[in-house]
Amino acid sequence: MSDVRTDVVLSGIGVGLNAATAPAFVVATAQTLPPYRMSDLAPREETARLAASVLKVQLSLQGVAAESNGEAREVLEALAEIVADDVLVASAQEFIDQGWSAASAFGKAVSNFIAPLVKEEASERFDDFEWLSQLVQADLAGISTVRELPTEGRWVLVIDDLTPADTVQFTDAIVGVVTIKGGPTSHASIICAARGIPAVVACAEAADVSTGETLLVDPLGGRVLVNPFDLEASAAIPFSARLPEPLIAVRANVGSVQDVEAARLSGASGVGLLRTEFLFMDAQTEPTHEAQVAHYRTIFESSPAGPILVRTLDVAIDKPLMFAQSSLEEQDRGYRFLVDNRGVIERQLDAISAAQKITGREVWVMAPMLASSEQVRYFTELVRARCKLRVGAMIELVSLAQTVDELAGIVDFVSIGTNDLSQDLFGVDRNSPTDPDLLDHWQPLLIQLIGRVATASRNASIDCSVCGSAASDPTFAVVLAGLGVGSVSCAPAAVANVRASLMSFESVAAARAASIAADAESNVAAKLAVQTFLNQSLAR
Ligand code: PEP
Ligand code: MG
Repeated sequence: MSDVRTDVVLSGIGVGLNAATAPAFVVATAQTLPPYRMSDLAPREETARLAASVLKVQLSLQGVAAESNGEAREVLEALAEIVADDVLVASAQEFIDQGWSAASAFGKAVSNFIAPLVKEEASERFDDFEWLSQLVQADLAGISTVRELPTEGRWVLVIDDLTPADTVQFTDAIVGVVTIKGGPTSHASIICAARGIPAVVACAEAADVSTGETLLVDPLGGRVLVNPFDLEASAAIPFSARLPEPLIAVRANVGSVQDVEAARLSGASGVGLLRTEFLFMDAQTEPTHEAQVAHYRTIFESSPAGPILVRTLDVAIDKPLMFAQSSLEEQDRGYRFLVDNRGVIERQLDAISAAQKITGREVWVMAPMLASSEQVRYFTELVRARCKLRVGAMIELVSLAQTVDELAGIVDFVSIGTNDLSQDLFGVDRNSPTDPDLLDHWQPLLIQLIGRVATASRNASIDCSVCGSAASDPTFAVVLAGLGVGSVSCAPAAVANVRASLMSFESVAAARAASIAADAESNVAAKLAVQTFLNQSLAR
């Protein structure tokens, strides 16, 4: 009898719609770094060693960035700036002056840098800072942190978590990804979703997989099958368009000119979220009015037909501003940032408004991470004093989600950011979740909250949209329509599928799907029950 294990089911969180089967390629965890230690050398020598290492890491990040594109490139370019950030290096110098080695000093400086923010809020690329710290420490210790990924054949990568250095190495040889850590909105998930690579993340049991075992990555089932024999991938719902148009408008999320190109080809009805951080992230000084206008103009001109919802700067630990008034450690998202950097936001609005006038596009503006109707009023008054654009707020904090009725007459629209809303609702770090399941958008409590926001918005005559990752799930998009949300905005790669699902069901079926999901006992039960119901209604 063979002792090969078959049909072993490992559970995790699925990313994507298609399944993939291939042998596992288990990527070794990077060599561990030596513990922090006091130095035998003079501080002057440690300072020189640190400066050389920081420069080396910076150049290498710039090199990898130059060979990458899209979001990976932007992240790498930003990290190349941050590694040599004055505040960070000065903080490391203080530790060197206390006698610590250069590697320990840099590690401690990064830890101090991110510590106050860990408890407050997570960010999707928070792990990148840890990675940056490890790159410098590894260089100083003479350890290699480069993990060689396969470039030939077909493999399912099994890895603790993916860093930007890993994802830039992706070739067609990687047909699936299983990560032991991570969550549905962390770096690995976002990259895999954008590249259409089926993935299952937060799959702790994958730690026991060996290279060569056949893996079936089943994102729809939220599971990985080891050596599948009787079991098969979960079947996707066979959407078949019955309606001439989707139940609700499907827009696209964009952050760069490249994304806008993809959005235009995707069939999206406008842009539901323009993340404006990327223009500012690398800038040592505030971009000039002319540079900002030119940037928005290019984006507006290339955007798919329909409204363009521009989010004002969303500054966070993973997207810091070098020129903002608050120091890097103190920067906060939402209201605090607005108040501390009112001039930056006013000049951003002036540039958006100027680009709107040049292009004649329908542009709406919204602010991220506001917590109360008073904070929203502060933003809307600021906007209305300067331009005549429709103005709104993102709903990303439970406190605002619960008080949408108070926004009547204050905003024209709201857009629900489910990524941040989930972490606020469940108190789970979005970047390295201890319980990733809580960040699954199928959690009934989240679904109920979205339903309440949609209803309150309708009663207050406010447009309500959803632009978090949840909107990229075609089945969930039907639930959102049933909850009364007026439009969704998703990754450009997901637009076609989301449109197809929203053209496959009448509003009565969508409403039923929404109540099934909201009444379910768990996220797993909600997803399964809605899939079953929608499959049955398609068969009728
Ligand atoms: C969200 O939080 O859902 C969102 C769309 O904003 P971001 O992912 O940029 O934080
Ligand atoms: Mg957000």
